Amino acid sequence: MELLSNTKNGLYCEMADVYIDPWRKVQKALITHGHSDHAKPGHSQYMCHKNSVSILKHRIGKNIKVRGYNFGESISINGVKFSFHPAGHIIGSAQVRVEYKGEIWVVTGDYKLGDDEVCTPFEPIKCHTLITESTFGLPIYKWESPGNVFNQINQWWAENKANKQTSVIYAYSLGKAQRILKHLSKDIDKIYAHASIYNTNKTLIEHGIYDTHCEELSPKTADLNGALIITPQSSTALKNINQTHSIKTAMASGWMATRNTRKNRLIDKGFVLSDHADWDDLLTAIASSEAERVIVTHGYQEAFARYLSELGLKAETYKTAFEGESTLK
Ligand SMILES: [Zn+2]
Ligand SMILES: [Zn+2]
Repeated sequence: MELLSNTKNGLYCEMADVYIDPWRKVQKALITHGHSDHAKPGHSQYMCHKNSVSILKHRIGKNIKVRGYNFGESISINGVKFSFHPAGHIIGSAQVRVEYKGEIWVVTGDYKLGDDEVCTPFEPIKCHTLITESTFGLPIYKWESPGNVFNQINQWWAENKANKQTSVIYAYSLGKAQRILKHLSKDIDKIYAHASIYNTNKTLIEHGIYDTHCEELSPKTADLNGALIITPQSSTALKNINQTHSIKTAMASGWMATRNTRKNRLIDKGFVLSDHADWDDLLTAIASSEAERVIVTHGYQEAFARYLSELGLKAETYKTAFEGESTLK
């Protein structure tokens, strides 16, 4: 029997009767992070890193049964040892380490390398089998330094302000929005966030795991000249504003690395900023795990697994529920 297997409900540890990021309702679920393709509603019992507790309650429901753990804290179920370790993806994001009789598996969940100054940076965990995501598992994905990208964002705002325009950045309400807000220039005096982002921030701030200053955007917000608005792209909040103000739109996402996605989204500007590892960082993370067997999920699994096989690794794929780095949630 394998320590973890891919079932119709999701990744399963039969020995402990526990699922990891299951996509159907189960009894016990270990959750890597709060994004909706990982944290589904309806499980009887949730276990996650302690910083994900308030996020899960905010997004799934305040009455869910959830228990939070520190990084590295050992959870023993039927003799199987589980623990959460930093994944560096968003606040509260964790890899799950599973150990049984000396055999170690690690499930990365979503991750990126480097310090984004918002969440705990990724920590490589040694294991025999690594289950890795592959959202950007193609060699065309290579990120520039985030510092450069934030400079570009701040310069873009300054140009728009000089032209008396309102800057609108489309960003995912959990993760990307907090990261951008953290790195906006101090010169930007008017920052407004769409309710979904504003309320997420409020929850995080209340729990002492994030800090930012911005106001909630409402149809009554009048003073938008030179302001910066951060909102998910699906939002209709901009409709009223669009008619009375000249706006410039931008999106911050890893997908902005390809010209077609920029064109299809009808936006003025694309900033390449991702909370996932790029090609090089995926390879770095895999190498530092020292895993001899790699199971690729969540993205370009076929192509990426083929490449890993060429490197001499034992590589396989699992298909998982996957929404990638969408801005629509
Ligand atoms: Zn995610
Ligand atoms: Zn994901």
